[in-house]
Amino acid sequence: MELIAKIREEYALELDPKKYFRKAQGEHGVYFAVKMIKGQCIFLNKEKRCRIYKCRPVLCELYPVIDVDSVDERCPAVKENKLSVEMLASLKKRYADEIDDRIKIEQTFRFV
Ligand code: SF4
Repeated sequence: MELIAKIREEYALELDPKKYFRKAQGEHGVYFAVKMIKGQCIFLNKEKRCRIYKCRPVLCELYPVIDVDSVDERCPAVKENKLSVEMLASLKKRYADEIDDRIKIEQTFRFV
């Protein structure tokens, strides 16, 4: 996978894709997602920081936007209104431009 190659290059980490990613069945087909351990992403370190931040999946870049017209209301930044209307509009536009059509078109979509 492209992400694995980028992580290997950027962080000199040897990743076994089966250990870090899982296949999941979505509304429009199969996709690959990062594994979760006890409700937390496998790439989160003890300091609650992303170990692959520079290479994180595009859906992580777009968070808290989780669809073209919705945000994750559980996100503290959303609850506390810390994100400007412009920022959220920009993330939603990126979701529409970079994700939405691919999810609908592809049989197998890689979130990574
Ligand atoms: S940014 Fe993405 S990959 Fe990184 S810890 Fe958070 S959920 Fe995991």
